[in-house]
Amino acid sequence: MSQEKLAELRGRLCEVANVGAAVVLLSWDQETYMPPKAAPGRGQQLATLSAISHQMFTAPELGALLDELGDGRASLEPDDAALVAETRYDYDRAKRLPESFVRRFVEEQSKAYESWVKAREENRFEVFRPQLDVLVGLLKERAELLGYTGSPYNALLEDHERGMTAEELRPLFAGLAERQGALIRRIVESGRRPDTAWADQEWDTQRQWDFTMRVLEDMGFDFEAGRQDRSVHPFTTNLELYDVRVTTRVNPRLLFSAVMSSVHEGGHALYEQGFLERDRHTPLAAAPSLGLHESQSRMWENVIGRSRPFWEHYAGRLRDAFPSQLDGVSVQQLYEAVNRVEPSLIRVEADECTYNLHVILRFEIEVGVIEGRIAVADLPEVWNAKMKEYLGVDVPDDLRGCLQDIHWAHGSMGYFPTYTLGNLYASQIFERILDDLPGLWDDIAAGRFGGLLDWLREHIHRRGRRDLAPAVVRDVTGREPGAEAYLGYLERKYGELYGV
Ligand code: ZN
Repeated sequence: MSQEKLAELRGRLCEVANVGAAVVLLSWDQETYMPPKAAPGRGQQLATLSAISHQMFTAPELGALLDELGDGRASLEPDDAALVAETRYDYDRAKRLPESFVRRFVEEQSKAYESWVKAREENRFEVFRPQLDVLVGLLKERAELLGYTGSPYNALLEDHERGMTAEELRPLFAGLAERQGALIRRIVESGRRPDTAWADQEWDTQRQWDFTMRVLEDMGFDFEAGRQDRSVHPFTTNLELYDVRVTTRVNPRLLFSAVMSSVHEGGHALYEQGFLERDRHTPLAAAPSLGLHESQSRMWENVIGRSRPFWEHYAGRLRDAFPSQLDGVSVQQLYEAVNRVEPSLIRVEADECTYNLHVILRFEIEVGVIEGRIAVADLPEVWNAKMKEYLGVDVPDDLRGCLQDIHWAHGSMGYFPTYTLGNLYASQIFERILDDLPGLWDDIAAGRFGGLLDWLREHIHRRGRRDLAPAVVRDVTGREPGAEAYLGYLERKYGELYGV
């Protein structure tokens, strides 16, 4: 009886996932290959398909199926019980959003994206402002529809970091801002700066690209079940278990930008490629939160990709790619350059020490906007003041200020905090990995990533969405998630690099 019902549930979920895959493919195309004039049509296509997928997922028949399976949950296998519970969670949430709202949201999202692109071309926030105003209105409406306790921002956070609240983030972020701010001041005041004059050259983009492909392959990215392309903003997307796509951006002036983006997105992609076959096409083939997802990308990018052993291995390969340009550049110089600390304007190019401050600024602005304390029209002014306060830098224009990120253009608020949570989770999890794999750094220095990937597959990836992020971190590390491991890591690494 319940086996039949389960099969029916899986069949329905598979159909929803198939439509979802079409949405994902069209969105991926929008940011990689779509010709500009196709934009309005693409917006409509996405709106139609999203509405269809929403209709299918919120069908009363699916609700009835979940009711019946829920009634008999005592007799379900743990995996099936998890599937039913997680689908129920998504179903109840989706039910709160009327189809007309979903359609309107996606349409406005596409318009906002186009106006954001235009605003960036003209370097004027004002071009984006009216459309952002519309989106913020919709986000507030979304929060009311979904429901919340405390700040309305919590309803939006729930989409990205289930269970997390603005009230919990405020003291956590305040503590980070204080200790990271102090570390940055010590570094700036030390007057020490790594010699990176050698990096100020043109780096052939094809060779950079080839290098990123090689590193992805070494990490264990399965190119038979995924691909890499270029986009303005690097991202990872997943049509299904066997089609996971990453993008990177290649800048001839920046030697590390492409490879670090690829390693970051590669970390996301390995997670997506590591879900269980039996969870395919179901809500269980997903991370429990974006914070945990970011713990994977940030561990690969920062803890591994910005480590000295990593560059001990890749220095030779990079020299092979750029023989005359890297002649005489040592491993230590590469290591120092990839970890150079400098308060700067752009989040995605920010170093590990200053990165969280970029996030905290955005978090404060988002909460203010959603709670109605900050007007969209005042955004550039508030942004620039906070940049001065947290990072001591003057923002010269909107392009390098509040127009730099794609998130708001996508109608996404409540997303930024997950980057910082990812940093915290990554450090805490990595302490446990080093306990389990004492030879890990020797492996990395030899370009062997298999042991690390196996560990992540076993302890993180295969779980899919069976546990919430804090439970995963607790289970793996034996401690509550917190900031200590991260701050300790940061102060050790940069204390040594800068002698502070
Ligand atoms: Zn990421």
